Amino acid sequence: MASDKRVKVTLECTECKRRNYITKKNKVNNRERIELSKYCRFDRKHTLHKETR
Ligand SMILES: [Zn+2]
Repeated sequence: MASDKRVKVTLECTECKRRNYITKKNKVNNRERIELSKYCRFDRKHTLHKETR
């Protein structure tokens, strides 16, 4: 069941600015923009990915 507390977010690599991941977050638990260390296949390493709109 889709709840409006789970929102879709796009994660953008802070190094190459490519949007590599689409994920979901719980709006209640994560009210701020989320930041995750994810593997970027363009940089071929783990980089910081930030939520974007
Ligand atoms: Zn990248």
